[in-house]
Amino acid sequence: MFYPDFELEYWVSKYGLEIATNACAKCGQLFQTKVPVLIKGYAGLETETHECGRKYNSAIFTPISNDSKKIWENIFFS
Ligand SMILES: [Zn+2]
Repeated sequence: MFYPDFELEYWVSKYGLEIATNACAKCGQLFQTKVPVLIKGYAGLETETHECGRKYNSAIFTPISNDSKKIWENIFFS
């Protein structure tokens, strides 16, 4: 998993993502998915890590196109 250094607005519009508001399963606080994140084949947004720890973060993902996949693979996975 990678955290690419892009502006939220750019990331959201590039991949058609929608910022979600999710409650932490442990403390119940609401967090918005505002951290650009990339895993192989998917682009997404993750909530920021807070005092409950990273395993309580939530994230949304969308599949990325084959073209983008190739570009990212060249950057990160080769
Ligand atoms: Zn929490």
